[in-house]
Order: sequence, then structure tokens, then C-alpha cells
Amino acid sequence: MVVFCFLVDQKRVVQGSKPAAGICSRCGSGASVADMKTATRFCYVPFYWKSYRAIICTFCGAVLRSYR
Ligand SMILES: [Zn+2]
Repeated sequence: MVVFCFLVDQKRVVQGSKPAAGICSRCGSGASVADMKTATRFCYVPFYWKSYRAIICTFCGAVLRSYR
């Protein structure tokens, strides 16, 4: 089997979160403020990290709002 290495994906890591006022528009669960880190990976090797703060749903993980 030949494995081609053209795979670029993103991995999202939640570094910490605390409850926030707001309701998820998708499932209606509570939202929380989270410090996010997104790693862009090429062949499973992270080469670019981006940190930001976002309001996410604690239940389904939807990003409701993000800050720079
Ligand atoms: Zn949700």
C-alpha cells in the first residue's frame, strides 16, 4: 500500500473554559468561554498554531463566537 502524504488537517484544542452567558443556536445548551488553540497539521505534523478565545457550546462543540 502506498501512502500519499498530502494530508492537511486542523486539530482544535480547548485549553480551558468557563461558563458564559449564552445559548447554543444549534442545540440550545449552555455556552462557555474557552481558550482555543488550533493546530494546522501537514502529514500529522503541526506547523502552525493559532490561539484565540471563543465562545463555544459545551454540549455539541459549536463555535458561537470567536475573538482574536
Ligand atoms: Zn450546541
